[in-house]
Amino acid sequence: MIIGGHLSTKEGFGKLPEIAVGIGFNTYQFFSKNQMQWKSKPIDDKSAQEHIKNMEKFNIIKPAIHASYLLNLGSPEDSKREQSYSAFLDEILRAEKLGVEILIFHPGAHMGSGTKKALDNIIENMNRAIEETKELKVKLTVENTAGQGTVVGSTVEELQYIKDGIHTKARIGFCIDTCHAFQAGYNLNEKYNEVFDEFVSSLGKDMIVAFHLNDSKPPFNKHLDRHEMLGKGHLSKEFFVNLLTDPRWKDVPLYLETPEGEEGYPKDLDFIRKLGIKI
Ligand SMILES: [Zn+2]
Ligand SMILES: [Zn+2]
Repeated sequence: MIIGGHLSTKEGFGKLPEIAVGIGFNTYQFFSKNQMQWKSKPIDDKSAQEHIKNMEKFNIIKPAIHASYLLNLGSPEDSKREQSYSAFLDEILRAEKLGVEILIFHPGAHMGSGTKKALDNIIENMNRAIEETKELKVKLTVENTAGQGTVVGSTVEELQYIKDGIHTKARIGFCIDTCHAFQAGYNLNEKYNEVFDEFVSSLGKDMIVAFHLNDSKPPFNKHLDRHEMLGKGHLSKEFFVNLLTDPRWKDVPLYLETPEGEEGYPKDLDFIRKLGIKI
């Protein structure tokens, strides 16, 4: 199993591998910059090299960067969309510099302009970013959403629409957040096989490159993005067993984003072990 959690970078990028292994992880996710600010401080060569060196030293598999929460590639406002595009491009270059190939981002929100317009804007900007970073390997990884407000990308149809619009499919992937999927109306408790068969047949198994492993604080289908500690929310034990023993996801990294963060991850790992699953 490839499992990690979202980690803070307060001790520097180079420390992340050691912190992850200390918790019992073999991967992790992080922000390469303050996720609530547009500006970013350039990454110096030394700390990038240290990160890459320590990833190898600690045998880290498939780490990910989560992009800024401010990005909205689907915004109907030209200036907001351009600002998002520049920040997105910066995120791709930072990921490449840090040796990270999975860049997870929220597709965006239509802000009243309608879902199709937003999806078309997202596709256009993803194609543009891929074109502008042709020589890079970073995968632009779209995260499914809970469908709160005017946010797009909560249904498999919308995610497939994005996939279909991308010219270079080798440069994209999808990250399935289990809390978001459940909140968006996919009943992972009752219909595990049906739901994942649908995701796989619409997106392709190899397009699913990551999971956000979160329990759901609200009950089913409320379109609310509120994570809970594993075992403390509305997702069932059976669901976690199904997901964590599904051979299709053996090599797909799972990142925890549970509310207690680094303090709470040992409890999440314990929950998994108590299901009888070896980590
Ligand atoms: Zn996210
Ligand atoms: Zn979330």
